[in-house]
Amino acid sequence: MTEIPRERADLHLHSSCSDGTEPPGEVVRAAHRAGVGVIALTDHDTTDGWAEAAAAARETGLTLLPGAEVSAKHAGRSVHVLAYLFDPADKVLLRLMNRVREDRIGRAERLVRNIGRDYPLTWDDVLAQRAGDATIGRPHIADALIARGTVRDREEAFASILHPAGGYYVPHYAPEPEEVVRAIGGAGGVSVIAHPAGRGMMPDSEIARLVDAGLGGFELAHRENDERGVRHLARVVARRDLIVTGSSDYHGSGKPNRIGENTTAPEMVARIVSAARGSAPVVG
Ligand code: AMP
Ligand code: MN
Ligand code: MN
Ligand code: MN
Repeated sequence: MTEIPRERADLHLHSSCSDGTEPPGEVVRAAHRAGVGVIALTDHDTTDGWAEAAAAARETGLTLLPGAEVSAKHAGRSVHVLAYLFDPADKVLLRLMNRVREDRIGRAERLVRNIGRDYPLTWDDVLAQRAGDATIGRPHIADALIARGTVRDREEAFASILHPAGGYYVPHYAPEPEEVVRAIGGAGGVSVIAHPAGRGMMPDSEIARLVDAGLGGFELAHRENDERGVRHLARVVARRDLIVTGSSDYHGSGKPNRIGENTTAPEMVARIVSAARGSAPVVG
């Protein structure tokens, strides 16, 4: 099995292949500068950044776990499932992520049409903020509103115009978390629920269903988790012997989250690597 160095590990970072502001190679170099030795690139619903990130990992000597943050939804609430070391050519998982990516485009167009009734904003404004074929999301619309001078930063956009109660919101399609967890397992990957104790935690019955479906673990150290939820999930983790991670959810300058602000224990990184069969870590 691949030897993973016992260094600081941050297993949740975004690049401009989704809603981060830096290209994948720059994310890897920023992690290296921040003194983090192991990272996972987890762009929303895409593996497009893997090759560039792998090249930068080899250059800098950093270890990379290729990954993704797969969009899901349960009872109308968004659930994000981190996926590590899966086979990027797996048809079932690919179809699932591509369906979300495609629906996100129509959804963003509808959102922009709604906003455009009250503010100067066009679809071209949004496309100008998107790098190539990046998985599109509200952050790109936020960036277009910033460029128009309507809001100061993404935070302000999300608190007002882009908020679900802001009067313009449109949801996007997402599969059930159980389907996502099974697809990740089927692709040889390891699944971890991202920021599971934020606003609107999943009910215990759903959590039990996911663990039975092969869920690997929970991201318990994340700035959006609340303490009570973490205490509750820590008991579930102990009872079911699950993996626990901690990460930054870095988005470049798109969020205040700093690389390495939360980290994952080397023992947990080793568990992820030994459980995965879909792809190998890049040890630079
Ligand atoms: P979407 O998937 O299009 O609904 O947009 C959700 C994404 O927006 C998440 O992946 C976050 O990265 C980002 N996001 C949510 N809230 C904020 C915020 N307050 N500031 C910056 N980015 C945010
Ligand atoms: Mn994001
Ligand atoms: Mn997320
Ligand atoms: Mn994320």
